[in-house]
Amino acid sequence: MGKKKSGTGAWSADPRDALRAHPDFDLFQMDRGGTPGWEDDKGAAKKFGAQRGGLLSELQERLYAEGRTGGSRSLLVIVQGLDTAGKGGVARHVMSKVDPQGVALRSFGPPTEEEQRHHFLWRIEKELPAPGLIGVFDRSHYEDVLVARVDELVAPEVWEERYDEINDFEADLVAGGTTVVKVALMISHDEQGMRLMKRLDRPDKHWKYSASDLSTRRRWDDYQDAYADVFRRTSTDVAPWYVVPADHKWYARVAITEILTQTLIDLDPKWPSVRWDPMVQRRELAQTLSTRALADSLSETDEQVEKSIKSNREVQKRAARASKVGDGSDPVADADATAREAEAYAAAAAAMADQQRTRRQKAEFLAERDGT
Ligand code: AMP
Ligand code: MG
Repeated sequence: MGKKKSGTGAWSADPRDALRAHPDFDLFQMDRGGTPGWEDDKGAAKKFGAQRGGLLSELQERLYAEGRTGGSRSLLVIVQGLDTAGKGGVARHVMSKVDPQGVALRSFGPPTEEEQRHHFLWRIEKELPAPGLIGVFDRSHYEDVLVARVDELVAPEVWEERYDEINDFEADLVAGGTTVVKVALMISHDEQGMRLMKRLDRPDKHWKYSASDLSTRRRWDDYQDAYADVFRRTSTDVAPWYVVPADHKWYARVAITEILTQTLIDLDPKWPSVRWDPMVQRRELAQTLSTRALADSLSETDEQVEKSIKSNREVQKRAARASKVGDGSDPVADADATAREAEAYAAAAAAMADQQRTRRQKAEFLAERDGT
């Protein structure tokens, strides 16, 4: 019997709903080998994730364009998890789907001497994503209520106050236009042990191992308690936590890809409108072109404009389809998808009218040349 070929699969629930840490969330009951919202297999997940690449990168490019033209929105993705949970892999994997120019990846290690002299949020503030960018944090200010608490780097009354400070800090960020997505990769004790052993077994992975990983592992229960408090005290309405079972790397990856895609769909970044008139600019540019180049340009007008119509309609259609997760029985999501499709058709109609104007204008330029 041949191996069963995987289909593309689909989410049975938006992972943002399936993984969100609500007040009643219980970390100790969570199955870390689970795949909430995904009932298909690994092969299907990989295919689905790969298909999301095009949509994710188009949405990211729009956000970037918006940021370059006066927009103030940005996206901050905070990735937390213990050693070997897959933080670096997720950052690399997800970010490989978008233009590197639009992403800023930052890892936070033990604070330097200078950083220690400042408030714990000082080094974080310096690394926040500029408008239009997606910032990815591999570890973050949450270490200041995780390792700082477990290793007793500061007194309990110090870390105790930090939860509220973090909530205030993130609320300000969100108010300023940054969408904050927090994902925690949670692996089981056994899985971490196996992954650490693999690092020891493979010389090419030795560089990832640190002798201190073992002392951290010995404090497993304290870390779990500290993580449980993070979810209990800092999963807010404006900046919720998504707790991702991470024993299956393929699940963690496809889940985070989907969380980001859906977040960007909701942000709905649009191509910026410009302040100059293309008709005026085109006339000036035409004066610098030879008659031959002008004729060539006229003949490729349709092709250029059709490309932009196509990419616009494609992104709208994919966004519509992507927001229709589940069985399509959600009337709000359906109405939203229909509205997006209508918007896409209106945009296409406007672009076609524009195409005709462009063609006419170029033909006029050529006629003027003939006349001289
Ligand atoms: P890695 O992510 O494997 O490169 O390791 C980074 C190390 O930096 C981990 O052991 C973290 O616990 C440590 N670290 C990160 N942030 C802090 C912090 N605020 N205070 C103390 N240690 C930290
Ligand atoms: Mg490490």
